Amino acid sequence: MSCAGDDDGKNLQSNRRLDNSDLEELVSTAISYLAVHGSVMNETKEADSKMVHSPFALFPSVVPKDCFKQAYKLATLFNLVAFRISNSPDYLLKHLEPLTGIDDFSGRLVQLYKETVQKGEGNRQRCQFGILRSDYFIDVLQGKSVLKQIELNTIASSFAALGQRVAEWHQVSHSMFPQTSAGELAPIENIENFVRAMKEAHQVYNVPESRILFVVQPNERNKYDQEIIRWELWKQFGIKSLRRTLRQVDEQADRSSLPGKLVLQCSNEKIPISVVYFRAGYSPDDYPSEREWNARRIIEWSDSIKCPSLGLHLVGMKKIQQVLSESGQLEQFLQDRPEEAALVRSCFAEQYSLDLPVQHIAIQLAESNPTDYVLKPQREGGGNNLYGNRMLQFIRRASKEELSGYVLMKLLRPREYPNYLVQKGKAFFGNCISELGIFGAFLCCGNEEKWILNEPIGHLLRTKWTQQEDGGVAAGNAFLDSPLLV
Ligand code: ADP
Ligand code: MG
Ligand code: MG
Repeated sequence: MSCAGDDDGKNLQSNRRLDNSDLEELVSTAISYLAVHGSVMNETKEADSKMVHSPFALFPSVVPKDCFKQAYKLATLFNLVAFRISNSPDYLLKHLEPLTGIDDFSGRLVQLYKETVQKGEGNRQRCQFGILRSDYFIDVLQGKSVLKQIELNTIASSFAALGQRVAEWHQVSHSMFPQTSAGELAPIENIENFVRAMKEAHQVYNVPESRILFVVQPNERNKYDQEIIRWELWKQFGIKSLRRTLRQVDEQADRSSLPGKLVLQCSNEKIPISVVYFRAGYSPDDYPSEREWNARRIIEWSDSIKCPSLGLHLVGMKKIQQVLSESGQLEQFLQDRPEEAALVRSCFAEQYSLDLPVQHIAIQLAESNPTDYVLKPQREGGGNNLYGNRMLQFIRRASKEELSGYVLMKLLRPREYPNYLVQKGKAFFGNCISELGIFGAFLCCGNEEKWILNEPIGHLLRTKWTQQEDGGVAAGNAFLDSPLLV
């Protein structure tokens, strides 16, 4: 899909360059704004890590307004498609079971899912609850801006809260230096919408004294992005929440209520869990022992409303996104909405399967034009993809079976815009590219699709230096930003 509204990059280049004293003052004002409003992270994963400001772009970055609107429109459709696939175990297993034996971590998730489906344990949860983030680059095709999806995240979609704080900072910088940001800032209400969606799910569970469980990594660097949401749940709705690692869930789950009810034993209190919100559990590092797997099973087999259920987690696998891009696949899930199916399909980038029968086609493409493709494993969190020479070396070294656990994607090349990116108090100027993420939330009960919620709930812009290949703020490659709509 192409979007109008192109660029004022050349003007920005000159308008954004500040002299040293202005720059110093603005950066220090920005950092104090972010610190005061909680856009902070832990510097390391050590328990006594110091707090630092989140990496950020000093000014908002250009996003064509039409593309932004289209991305918002797509959010409800991705919610719908993700819900329907999460309710289609045969489809998920058909495409993901082959990963078993190739990729230990993904295979283990798939086996747990299969066990859950076969035992009927997965049906205890009344509703599917998703907080997704669909990420896009605005690619340029024949001079036109075109919205193209990088990936759909169905678990632990992060930075809604810290991203909002940076967007709020941009409202300040916009008013202080209007010449640096000619355009309109996008309205921002991530935090408010996030907690409203969680409140709806909590209410559906409808058990007095229940709390929302945040499943987190031990010594999480990005803790404060979660804490802002927890405080807001309490402030706005009086909903209490808990932070626990998977290991703590295994230690504290009350065995007498299993399987079926998730109740945590905390000191002398037994606390029923209404909603399990996963901010961990998507990476092999989150499962150092059998105890973490046991916790995931306990959660999955309980009637608490999971965000996401294991089925919905699997919908976010890169493999499913590659399969959906094949002709007719996405359309199976939008048979009642052919026009919308076409809209969704238009944002798909080229992807290629590495399944054995067709693997040679993808390999030939990658080998003949290595700078035009990226090789993606079934992983989340940034820093896992292979590009250029490293991709080629891997293709030559890996077995055919190992390669079949990856997907190949055409590399997108968005327009570059100048900005200052700030990390650890220091600002550097240069050309940057941005990735737009749109959060969507849904809550849908029963197999007959009783929708309680299906809406876009906010946005995130992450910006990185043009020459930086991979993304991810937590991975240290990207900077929090917000859209300047032109
Ligand atoms: P993850 O789940 O690890 O975030 P992504 O698919 O989002 O995986 O890839 C990580 C990063 O790699 C993205 O944020 C983006 O910067 C870059 N990337 C991924 N796919 C492409 C692509 N097709 N073209 C250009 N860059 C890409
Ligand atoms: Mg991801
Ligand atoms: Mg990503």
